[in-house]
Amino acid sequence: MTELTGMTREEISVWMKEQGYPAFRGKQVFEWIHRGIDFDGMTNLPAVMRESLKQTAVAQPVSIRLSRKSALDGTEKVLYALQDGNCVEGVIMHYKFGVSLCISTQVGCRMGCRFCASTLEGRIRDLTAGEMLGEVLAVNRLLQLTQQKVSHIVLMGSGEPLDNYQQVIRFLHLLREEGGVKISLRNVSLSTCGIVPKMYDLAEEDLPVTLCVSLHAPNDIIRRKTMPIAERWSMEEILEACRNYIRKTGRRVIFEYAMTAGINSSEADAAELADRLRGMQCHVNLIPLNAVPERNLQGVSEESIRRFMQVLEDKHISVTRRREMGDDIEGACGQLRRKTINGTESGDA
Ligand code: SAH
Repeated sequence: MTELTGMTREEISVWMKEQGYPAFRGKQVFEWIHRGIDFDGMTNLPAVMRESLKQTAVAQPVSIRLSRKSALDGTEKVLYALQDGNCVEGVIMHYKFGVSLCISTQVGCRMGCRFCASTLEGRIRDLTAGEMLGEVLAVNRLLQLTQQKVSHIVLMGSGEPLDNYQQVIRFLHLLREEGGVKISLRNVSLSTCGIVPKMYDLAEEDLPVTLCVSLHAPNDIIRRKTMPIAERWSMEEILEACRNYIRKTGRRVIFEYAMTAGINSSEADAAELADRLRGMQCHVNLIPLNAVPERNLQGVSEESIRRFMQVLEDKHISVTRRREMGDDIEGACGQLRRKTINGTESGDA
């Protein structure tokens, strides 16, 4: 089966021609796909064409298997079904400025961060660009009921985006295709645990996405306690790659920092972090840790977060505390998927 979702408008036209159809049909198919419509609904195509396309191609590779909405803030967690029976998660967040969708880029992850539930069973496989776009299309179908659409994207679901580089780049290009979903790359953030060579590659792509880096520590000794990737690249190498990204794109980098009890959240840690980031065009996003029972790691008190923030602010580092969204709906990466696979989630789609 050919997955059309991952193709550009031009590529679909070429493919349609190869199948013996006129090229203008390609444009029509592309536009239907980006509107989230499957072959059955492509009403301006002859019925026989729709039937034969169904036999050879896939238009909507992702469907929503279950979803649950937070009673606290309207954040919605979804579990997507992929064609091969695998599933990945997404989070829909409603803001004043629009609707932001958290995208998964791999089934599982092989980065092994100790606090993260996505990585507990390693990486199963990479998602294709078409599946990533399929996540957006599935959510747009869901949001249609309330006449909303995804306007912002964060690549912060399961998987390491820079460990699936080619497909992620293709996905980013698809977002801005003429006649497609048309999401501005200025509204897209990509988060990495710090795969240094790929951070340099990304800086050369000329794509205005915001780079987020999961730092979670003020130095390598602490970073190595929770992040195996820290054995491979030092924090200095990561920060140098960030400076390069800032130089090349003119965009500030965002550092994510999950506050973990007894590991990275003292005032001394904050002071060390501030010193290392001094002079950089950056922003620190403090994340209250979503405790993962399998890993025996705990978050910290509100008071500790406040004190940590104060130290950064006193040293003129721009910092915010991430809103804890969807805390009642297994908001943290990989948690809903694990519960469902393990059979402790009822599947109330
Ligand atoms: N692989 C990418 C993106 C996926 S995770 C990365 O590492 O950045 C998105 C963010 O959530 C990362 O900053 C990650 O470190 C963080 N995260 C994962 N598990 C978490 C947890 N249990 N509590 C808080 N943040 C978590």
